[in-house]
Amino acid sequence: MRLTFLGATETVTGSKYLLEGAGLRILIDCGLFQGTKNLRLRNWAPLPVDIGSIDAVILTHAHIDHSGYLPLLARSGYRGPIYATPGTCALAEILLKDSAKLQEEEADFANRHGFSKHHPALPLYTIDDAEQALKLLVPRAFDAPSILNDHAAFRLRRAGHILGAASVELHVAGKAIVFSGDLGRPGDAIMCAPAHIEHADYLVVESTYGDRLHEPTDPLAELEALFTRTFRRGGVVIIPSFAVGRAQTILHDIAILKDTGRMANVPVYLDSPMAVSVTELYRHYMQEHRLTRSQLDAIAKAAVMVRSVDQSKEIAGHRGPMVVIAGSGMATGGRVLHHLKAFAPDARNAIALVGYQAAGTRGAALQAHAPTIKIHGEYVPVRASIEAIPSLSAHADYNEILDWLRNFSTAPARTFVTHGEPAAADALRRRVTETLGWQCEVPTYLESVVLEDGAR
Ligand code: ZN
Repeated sequence: MRLTFLGATETVTGSKYLLEGAGLRILIDCGLFQGTKNLRLRNWAPLPVDIGSIDAVILTHAHIDHSGYLPLLARSGYRGPIYATPGTCALAEILLKDSAKLQEEEADFANRHGFSKHHPALPLYTIDDAEQALKLLVPRAFDAPSILNDHAAFRLRRAGHILGAASVELHVAGKAIVFSGDLGRPGDAIMCAPAHIEHADYLVVESTYGDRLHEPTDPLAELEALFTRTFRRGGVVIIPSFAVGRAQTILHDIAILKDTGRMANVPVYLDSPMAVSVTELYRHYMQEHRLTRSQLDAIAKAAVMVRSVDQSKEIAGHRGPMVVIAGSGMATGGRVLHHLKAFAPDARNAIALVGYQAAGTRGAALQAHAPTIKIHGEYVPVRASIEAIPSLSAHADYNEILDWLRNFSTAPARTFVTHGEPAAADALRRRVTETLGWQCEVPTYLESVVLEDGAR
């Protein structure tokens, strides 16, 4: 059996792992690289695998850094199944089409404004490609065993990260191989806790926050203080947010703050048609999260749901105090860019960073207090205050990852730490070795390891 790391090494993006065993080639996750240019260029290079030889894809969750390469896989001729939980299938429908639309718009924008070295600039993939990929989705319920062949099967286990998010438990050639996927936080206000998995011969574990602990602060109190400070000076709070997960968490918090009188009754805009659709999806998957129907009603009422582009542009002309939540979460694209252009130059305003900001993204530049950020070829001065609230994260910190690892009754023969910037991955590797005494390693890009088969 062989495992090849095709992404999420030295980065949190581009998750893709190829497992070859029991006569099958299985791709676990199929994500897009995001962040620095060198990483993004990998999306344009052919996948170093014969795509026609892949038998199945198993998706941990719908975030683009785990699913966003699927349209390219479909365009390159992949016609096999893409297994995912029903929640992930529903989200992928929204996210992949949006990702394709963004790719098409970016190419179009570059062509109209002459940004690109390429004439004409082509999209990485199109909505047609995304639709081809979506046809291949095969829903699989949490915990239900799925047979791939006589010597290979898998189960999707709850990972608690976003709606539908799973860890993958594979049984191939007599061995158990577990991929953690992105792990949520056990005490999350919205998502259910990650499932306890007790056995793995080989384990691949994420390390987004492998070098960080989330402060034991109350995110609600932090948001309250941030809003109070900013509104007092008449400012606007811009929140770049993932459409899935973070947007709903923030709206839930805003609903509570408004309901309990801890927040002024200022206008709140959710300027992300995708986040609006996702919020509605939560009603169809009531068993996948902790929110009640009345809490979902409160979320829907917590903000003005902005759908049209005209409405979005109009907001950029408004004055504070107000709150604007817009995608994308790391300010790599989407409507938040127009709001950053409009509001980042004014010192009265605040930009709240509520999710992970991958290296090389505008979000990471903001987090590092860059004096300017480049948007659409223009340098925009950043005078707004930058406020990070990592306790709102959808990722487990290192103690929470270690707790999840403690559920395994015996040490895996080998543990691979992925999905982290180099420092975070190495910090988690060291902690796992020191506290659990496990054999632990950090694989590099395209590294391929031979795993022993078990008795059949
Ligand atoms: Zn994720």
